[in-house]
Amino acid sequence: MSAQAFVQNSTVPTPPERHYDLVCPACGHTMADDGLTLRCPEDHAPALLRTRYRDQEPAVSPESDGLYRYRRWLPVVRTLPGAGGTVVYRSEGLGRALGLGDLWIAFNGYWPERGADLRTGTFKELEAYAVFGRLPERPPVLVVPSVGNTAAAFASVFSRTDVECLLVVPGSGLHRFATVPGIAPTVRLVSITGGDYDDAIELAERVSALPGFRAVGGAWNVARRDGLATVLLSAVEAMGALPEVYVQAVGSAVGAIAVHEAATRLIASGRYGPATPRLLMCQNEGVAPVHRLWHGCPEARRPVGKEERRAATGRVYADELVNQHPPYSLTGGIEEALRTSGGDVLPCPGEDARAATELFARTEGIDIEPAAAVAVACLGRSVREGRVSSGTRVLLNITGGGRARLSAGMRDDRAARPVLRLDPSTLESPGTLQRIRELFPAADVSA
Ligand SMILES: [Zn+2]
Repeated sequence: MSAQAFVQNSTVPTPPERHYDLVCPACGHTMADDGLTLRCPEDHAPALLRTRYRDQEPAVSPESDGLYRYRRWLPVVRTLPGAGGTVVYRSEGLGRALGLGDLWIAFNGYWPERGADLRTGTFKELEAYAVFGRLPERPPVLVVPSVGNTAAAFASVFSRTDVECLLVVPGSGLHRFATVPGIAPTVRLVSITGGDYDDAIELAERVSALPGFRAVGGAWNVARRDGLATVLLSAVEAMGALPEVYVQAVGSAVGAIAVHEAATRLIASGRYGPATPRLLMCQNEGVAPVHRLWHGCPEARRPVGKEERRAATGRVYADELVNQHPPYSLTGGIEEALRTSGGDVLPCPGEDARAATELFARTEGIDIEPAAAVAVACLGRSVREGRVSSGTRVLLNITGGGRARLSAGMRDDRAARPVLRLDPSTLESPGTLQRIRELFPAADVSA
């Protein structure tokens, strides 16, 4: 199999006709997509809906930019010109340094010499492009809570559209907007000074319940998962086969779940072997909710107090990996993906991640984001401990990189200016919801 082995198919239906259905893995319920649905309407335990595409085989649309090359396996009915995508190449320097002979890097970020052009420097842009493409003709205001990277990605992508969205981030995430070229007035940024990701999630939930507003839905949104799944599709096109091991730093682990789903889909098409890649998920030592759940630590399900949570978040190397409520035990969630792939979760000390950042820059020649450094460090440890052998075909997801390249020459004070800065103590007051509602006078409250 090679790049030509993916069938070429450029025919894409126009809205409202869609080239896929939504299927519930728990009860089998199948439905047409309205572009917004997040959950199965049947009454049962939580389950992540999946897409079922008309094409059983992977196909590429070579005329489409970036990730839209895989639009036949994306739940999209429109695309944005100039979209970016993942760049996959075989590593020499890092592979040699780690003792791996068949290491492939999926680079997400900005690296012009390699053709990587995700302008906010992370793979969250893949989600934003796919979510935009999935929306119906007249969408409600999309509500996106984020540590910072996801919001920056949505700000960048949605500023090139006429779709209104609300981004909710902790104040500590504002610096991630430094490379966003210019935020359109349709995109409103609200920050929570001194707040954390959970505060952003809680506020976003309340706003999403207002008429005219809808939650983008984290792992629940099939577009976010299938957008991230294009990392694997790009890799399989470049590698000519599925990887045996897939390595990624995880917060909500939406990307890892997505890669597992895409691998399952490729295997079902009959040409990609019998086994999905073993998922190696990586987190910060100290605040590692997925690691604790997977290894059955009794206190893993203990509710963590807000103060404790904020203090812990301030200590970790990669603060985008601290989601305390990852989609773990539901049907189609993290636990199922780890179990069926024979995967594992590793914690990484901050000093190892720091060393990995330097190692990557020295051996591959580009800066990487803290989360990606956690993945590099965990892969190194896995090789040293014999969990991954030297001949294994490994795909390492560099979930973000090139931001230093991108911001070179830019002034440091370009951090975004929120239209509203909230104090954590005001999040539950009705006045706060009213102020947010007033930011969107054109919102269609009948939606
Ligand atoms: Zn169902």
